[in-house]
Amino acid sequence: MLSYQHIYHAGNLADVHKHALLAWMLDYMTRKDKPLSYLETHAGRALYDLGSAEAVKTGEASKGIAAVRDWFDADHPYARVLDRVAGAHGPQAYPGSPRIAAELLRVQDRLHLAELHPQEAEALRAAMRSTGARVHAQDGFEMAQSLAPPDPRRGLLLIDPSYEIKSDYTRLPGIIGKLHRKWNVGVIALWYPILTDGSHGAMLRALEGQGLSGTLTHEVRFPPAREGHRMIGSGLFVVNAPFGLAAEAARLDQLFAAL
Ligand code: SAM
Repeated sequence: MLSYQHIYHAGNLADVHKHALLAWMLDYMTRKDKPLSYLETHAGRALYDLGSAEAVKTGEASKGIAAVRDWFDADHPYARVLDRVAGAHGPQAYPGSPRIAAELLRVQDRLHLAELHPQEAEALRAAMRSTGARVHAQDGFEMAQSLAPPDPRRGLLLIDPSYEIKSDYTRLPGIIGKLHRKWNVGVIALWYPILTDGSHGAMLRALEGQGLSGTLTHEVRFPPAREGHRMIGSGLFVVNAPFGLAAEAARLDQLFAAL
């Protein structure tokens, strides 16, 4: 039974890290006219209300995007999406990754989004209704395996598990290696939490030891959202990292380091 709900964590510093780099990559990839595919294994509900009781209860967004919004100039792709979503849904609205992708992609691009939780999948469908995205209410790893290589072949896959199932850490290197062999041009981005117990370490060593092409690992650290909270940082492992991503990541390093 899944209990994780992203509404409690939307807009926290891990989301800022992941969403800023995701927006940057999609903006870069859409500079060429050629169509692309956007796949996501763990989509969530795509649109969050940071004024909701759940978001206010944890206070993670207030220490996240609300505190660091000025890191992003108006022409940064993440800022452009935040502004558009606030304009359409009000100042407390926050876009999840599927909405960020939909805002940056074009009519010639295709989106495939997996979400296993029935309530979240329903909300995702409602939030993405006007975008042409296909919502798959199924296991995201199964969706990715069945679609890879997607049509169009150029594209990006975001894997953003909640790591509720501890075997995710041990399964992911194999899953990503297999996807890369089927879809060697695909950009594959895996998000992972940096926890006080270092749970991600063995997974990262296995990922980095597979000899996948053009990889970039980027990690930032931040103060825990509340006393005793185990998440102290955020990581993104990218296969076929787009040119220039390292420079944008280095810009974020400095900002997070000053927190
Ligand atoms: N990617 C989203 C974002 O950045 O806005 C957040 C996603 S949240 C971290 C993880 C989501 O994955 C949850 O909504 C959860 O219900 C869903 N989920 C958990 N296991 C799944 C699975 N095996 N396949 C698809 N979705 C899953």
